[in-house]
Amino acid sequence: MRYWNLVFSSRIFPVSNSLNLLLVSTPVGPLGSGLGGGVELTVRNIAIALLQKGHRVTVLAPATSALEGIPLICIPGNLQTTAQTEGRDAPVMLPEDSVLGNLWDHARQIQSDYDLILNFAYDWLPFYLTAFFTTPLAHLVSMGSLTNATDRILAQVADRFPHALGVHSLAQAATFSWASTAENVKNGFDLSQYEFCPTAGDYVAWVGRISPEKGLQDAIAAATAAQVRLKIFGVIQDWDYWEKLLLQYPEAPFEYCGFLSTQELQQALGQAQALLMTPHWVEAFGNVAIEAMACGVPVIAYQRGGPAEIVNHGVTGWLVEPDSVPALANALRNLGQIDRSACRLHAETEYSLDAMGDRLGAWFGKLLA
Ligand code: UDP
Repeated sequence: MRYWNLVFSSRIFPVSNSLNLLLVSTPVGPLGSGLGGGVELTVRNIAIALLQKGHRVTVLAPATSALEGIPLICIPGNLQTTAQTEGRDAPVMLPEDSVLGNLWDHARQIQSDYDLILNFAYDWLPFYLTAFFTTPLAHLVSMGSLTNATDRILAQVADRFPHALGVHSLAQAATFSWASTAENVKNGFDLSQYEFCPTAGDYVAWVGRISPEKGLQDAIAAATAAQVRLKIFGVIQDWDYWEKLLLQYPEAPFEYCGFLSTQELQQALGQAQALLMTPHWVEAFGNVAIEAMACGVPVIAYQRGGPAEIVNHGVTGWLVEPDSVPALANALRNLGQIDRSACRLHAETEYSLDAMGDRLGAWFGKLLA
């Protein structure tokens, strides 16, 4: 059953605010593995935000995914490689028995049970399928422009399907030709999962996938220059890169703490003096910035991409010249000026699940109208 909107005096009123929604997860890793990066937490948070707004939600995700308390259908198949490793001219490729293909074949078969399907994959196939599904597709695009093939299909979707494309930040949207039509839903977090930590320990933190585009080497160099311990949390996605870092910085004061659950991560992250965010690409959002602020941890980030829209310079952290290690080290020396409670307040005001649920509701309303 569909829920249509009535338009009165150019304003949109939903007839029913309860939609039956199918969320199709990323094909690069099972939920809970860390291979899917921030998208994994985003799928979970969005599912909860939508449930809290009274919608019904089912998640389709690769086999072995774990997602407590949310209806989940697991689909087998071989994982997709991540788009950021492929290069701009990369052709569209799927492995044999592709989980991406299998997810979307399953979505096609059950589509009539749903009012709207929300896609989290940054892959050509689901974008292309927009025209072939009878149930409306919304795509939450998780990265900036990376390949020509994806840029082209996204531009076609933007042209033919108004309101079908959502993004996490204006900076991310600006990497595409369709920026002006993108729906900026930012992100939202279950802030009850993050405990405010008023005092810091004797270290700073870096959190994320260990992969060249995330720029971990800059955080190691800055911590070394500022003579502060660095704790690193996250999945090692590129082992060659990691081994090079170990050779390059044999004496640096860093410690690798592994990939932790959200519960464990927030405990360790909460005691950090600051979170260092050092991406070398246009980070679409940067979940870890909000997770840090939710614990009261200031964020030091390059002034580019999503983090530059999240961090309030001088209030919730410092935005510094991109790719400058001395600027990072200098910001590390000026943390005393940041009030940790202002960080928590910022996360609560802009990035709660409730605020996210409202932004998603407004987006879906436009798409279905
Ligand atoms: N993360 C985690 N445990 C760890 C380190 C990281 O669960 O030990 C998660 C973190 O919560 C965040 C994601 O990894 O949701 C990283 O997402 P982000 O948006 O910062 O970067 P992306 O990987 O999407 O580029």
